[in-house]
Amino acid sequence: MTSNRAPVLQFIGAARTVTGSKSLLDLPGGRVLVDCGLYQGRKKLRLANWQPFPVDPATIDAVVLTHAHIDHCGYLPRLVKLGFDGPVWCTPGTAELVRILLPDSAHLQEEEAAYANRRGYSKHDPALPLYTDADAQAAIELLRPAGFGETVTVRPGIDVTWHRAGHILGAAFVRVGLRESDTTVVFSGDLGRPTHPLLLPPDPIGAADVLVVESTYGETEHLELDADGVIADVVNDAASCGGVVVVPAFAVDRTEVVLWHLDQLVATGRVPSIPVFVDSPMASRALDFYRGEARRGSPEIRPELHGRELFPALDIVETRSTDESKALNTRRGPMVIVSASGMATGGRVVHHLANRLGDSRNTVLLAGFQAPGTRGDQLRSGATKLKMLGRYVPVRANVVSLELSSHADRSELLDWIGTADAPQIAYVNHGEVDAAVALADAIETERRLPAVVPQPGERVRLNGT
Ligand SMILES: [Zn+2]
Repeated sequence: MTSNRAPVLQFIGAARTVTGSKSLLDLPGGRVLVDCGLYQGRKKLRLANWQPFPVDPATIDAVVLTHAHIDHCGYLPRLVKLGFDGPVWCTPGTAELVRILLPDSAHLQEEEAAYANRRGYSKHDPALPLYTDADAQAAIELLRPAGFGETVTVRPGIDVTWHRAGHILGAAFVRVGLRESDTTVVFSGDLGRPTHPLLLPPDPIGAADVLVVESTYGETEHLELDADGVIADVVNDAASCGGVVVVPAFAVDRTEVVLWHLDQLVATGRVPSIPVFVDSPMASRALDFYRGEARRGSPEIRPELHGRELFPALDIVETRSTDESKALNTRRGPMVIVSASGMATGGRVVHHLANRLGDSRNTVLLAGFQAPGTRGDQLRSGATKLKMLGRYVPVRANVVSLELSSHADRSELLDWIGTADAPQIAYVNHGEVDAAVALADAIETERRLPAVVPQPGERVRLNGT
């Protein structure tokens, strides 16, 4: 590396789209990749995971993660497979969740390749997984935890600090200080909502020259939901007629938020205590972690929950083995089954839906965003039948949509951007084009800050900003 090169920021992933977060700091002191996410969703996007990496991964000195969602860390095993062997810096909470989520992602990659081989549709013969469990384990070996507020010099002259983002446990926005050019770049990662029932709100930004801001909900305001009221109606209906409430929920954080609402309702007598099954090994591991963090008084958890057991009013049964999960099929209601995946694209919840959708006493409670084309989206749109496990199942159950979100909306993003001290420019990424452009416009008009929606692969200089 020559020291007279200009510091450059390159938008490798999540540019004009919502997944695949990867931003490369190409600096005189070394190359640092901020987030290493997988593209997810439509096939065209998933194929982008197979594109050659724009720089040789062996020349990247360090990776810095904002949080453990797969669209922020799920490309790590691939990067390792391609030659990266440096440290992966992240908060301890993110490291814990990455250890839970990456092996599952590898398993899905291996399953997809096996499926392609059975169907014979791969261009490669045999079809290969993007990465394997061994690659995921190799990536996990590289994790280097650093606490919130701790500053790590990841390369000479490059200082990184993590601050609470309030999105999921471990989630941070990242401040990168470049000593030579006296420039501070702040990456939002995914910004949470100030109303999260378990997590403290995002920290203010403070000093920043350059902001890189997500825009998932850059043109949307979340509706003020009466989540307790919606869930109370659903549970009371089930209790009165012996129905089953199936909740497809993302394994990390959404499960805890749903349980938190249920717990409040039972504790205040608004619903009777009916059995609650958490049927997802990954959700159970994440649940253990959330419980432990509350018990030990983690600085991310709301202080009123410190030293407490979470969800004390609930009768929770965690079904970890496949046999225990299958046994639920013949169990009669009333009961609640919380199971992954959140959009019913896979996982154990598909079996529960196949088993319960045909009965009008049952309810499906959709607890989050449903991407177009997923089973969750079809249910939300009023499908009268759904194809699962090779057959069509009639939809006679009630479907109730409750769009809980762990992402800040437009106003919350703008409020947070307003906490930055003297920024010079904002780059808006991690959003579909319309959302990113809308947020960039709002930043310019309401925050009087130049804002750019970078093109995929675009490089910008960081000094002189
Ligand atoms: Zn996220």
